[in-house]
Amino acid sequence: MKYTTVVKNDSESKRVEEKIRNSIKIEEDNTNPDYVIAIGGDGTIIKASHRYPKAIIFGVHTGHLGFYANYNVDTVDELIDDINSEKFECHNIDVISCELLTKNKTILLGNALNEISILTPLKALTMEVYVDGDFFETFKGTGLCVSTPFGSTAYNKSLGGAVVDTSLSAIQVTEIAGINSNAFRTLSSPLVLNSERVLELRCKNYGDKVYITIDHESKEVGSYVSIRIHQSDYKIRMAYHRYEDQIKRIKRTFLK
Ligand code: NAD
Repeated sequence: MKYTTVVKNDSESKRVEEKIRNSIKIEEDNTNPDYVIAIGGDGTIIKASHRYPKAIIFGVHTGHLGFYANYNVDTVDELIDDINSEKFECHNIDVISCELLTKNKTILLGNALNEISILTPLKALTMEVYVDGDFFETFKGTGLCVSTPFGSTAYNKSLGGAVVDTSLSAIQVTEIAGINSNAFRTLSSPLVLNSERVLELRCKNYGDKVYITIDHESKEVGSYVSIRIHQSDYKIRMAYHRYEDQIKRIKRTFLK
């Protein structure tokens, strides 16, 4: 087994990295690691999963409580023991994929652990929404956010979306400042879909900048494009010393 680290650029995270490096007995491999030790916050873990999608991720949070990380500054010794003894629990986390549909081919834009959103920051975006190939609604507004159950506590929650139990397999669509009038009528509430469903979003904004955000990354795409979003074939594997039920994590993070 080989490992690498992805570390937030702060002194506490670097100190924790040094301690781990000095104590684990396996070799380092930055190209094709089996284990990735992500030290920092949720953002660091998300970045690690994008960089090394095939590896098992060990998340260590060094700041305020993280949602993905299982280990913290006080349990670094547990992490070192778990890696050295190869005894830990591994859980699969759903990922969603985003593809650009062109006349002749389908181009993968990226995979998200939290969410994919399609938005225009300045002008209102007009977008036809299709579910499993059937027309559903025409959206007009800032954009739409499509999230995973794990991502339901992130941007989705700020948009008024539901927090989803991560033991369910689902994708959720939430509106970002949707316009509702007699000209544009949308559902105006979060839509939770079975994860086997496929969403297609056809942007109809000639000339305006349309952005796709995939977790922490954003890309500009054409203003008259079709985007397909669906659950990915692969999952991110996350290591836990002992798996903590998500409801406890939700309570610990959001409720006093
Ligand atoms: P960041 O530094 O801007 O931090 C975003 C915050 O979201 C952090 O506090 C992080 O801990 C938290 N977060 C991330 N994933 C979470 C999850 N699954 N459940 C609960 N909280 C979570 O950015 P970052 O750390 O690189 O994270 C990227 C994420 O930021 C995006 O995937 C998106 O979900 C989130 N975001 C949120 C808003 C908002 O709430 N208004 C806006 C843009 C992006």
